Amino acid sequence: MALRVRGAVKRYGDVTAVDGLDLDVGAGTCLGLLGPNGAGKSTTMRLLTAQSIADEGEITVLGHPVPAESKQARARMGVVPQQDNLDVELTARQNLSVFAQLYRVPARERRAAVDRALALAQLTDRADDKVDNLSGGMRRRLLIARGLVHAPELVLLDEPTVGLDPQVRQELWSLISVLRTQGVTVLMSTHYIEEAERLADDVAVMSAGRIIARGSPAELRARYAGNTAVEYYGPPPRLAEVERLVHAAGMSTRRTGPSISVLRAESMPEDLSDELGDGAVPRPATLEDVFVALTGEEVA
Ligand code: ADP
Repeated sequence: MALRVRGAVKRYGDVTAVDGLDLDVGAGTCLGLLGPNGAGKSTTMRLLTAQSIADEGEITVLGHPVPAESKQARARMGVVPQQDNLDVELTARQNLSVFAQLYRVPARERRAAVDRALALAQLTDRADDKVDNLSGGMRRRLLIARGLVHAPELVLLDEPTVGLDPQVRQELWSLISVLRTQGVTVLMSTHYIEEAERLADDVAVMSAGRIIARGSPAELRARYAGNTAVEYYGPPPRLAEVERLVHAAGMSTRRTGPSISVLRAESMPEDLSDELGDGAVPRPATLEDVFVALTGEEVA
């Protein structure tokens, strides 16, 4: 087990940000912690690094109880913050060297460690550029590389692609995929369904400070959203009518932009489908359907 959390609680005044959290992450897996804004994902990350101290509960990271042995745990884990806090006056290489030193990579191994991290982030040919001169995407890759310079066994990524354009997001996804193939344990918080769906072996859906569902994307789809959804399009009165008929039959719907999606459509009775009429567009169930079915909320 790379990390184990039992009954963690973190309060900020009247707000309970983490509310009895249980979480296990097996070594070598990539777990996506998926939840809407305010679910408690960042607070969970801070508890794991002992940047915040839990009011209750037990946390063990790489075998070390946290916060008691957080220093030892931190030495073996990489942390990639949500905010870019690179030193803009330094070059890419210098940023990594500073961290290699901070993480006590032995002096004779430091150069190789920095080169490895630069290569992983595909920044070898920009190594001597000041951070100020790097593009937004390069800076994000460097931020991740910085968290990897000491070859950690566990990497925590807090919303790694929040606010980035799609191309940069793709680049970071490739980088995270490489980590997975190297056997590094990854815990990634995200409110992007697609990110969890693509990268995570295992997804924990978080809402109001606790985990409300857990499984692979395929397991979660099968359990909470079935196989297929069908979408009905039309003007608002038509959509309202679809919702009314479907709900009357005891089935669930969700709004999907200009359409209404009927969930678990594989079990729709034929007379209902006849009553709803033509124009239904079937599609496979998604993790987004799962999320809405579980929380009633849209994410992203
Ligand atoms: P997420 O990362 O899922 O968006 P957070 O962990 O940031 O969620 O926040 C969970 C809840 O805790 C929110 O209601 C947030 O406003 C509150 N919260 C988080 N950090 C603090 C803090 N330092 N002080 C007060 N409230 C906080």
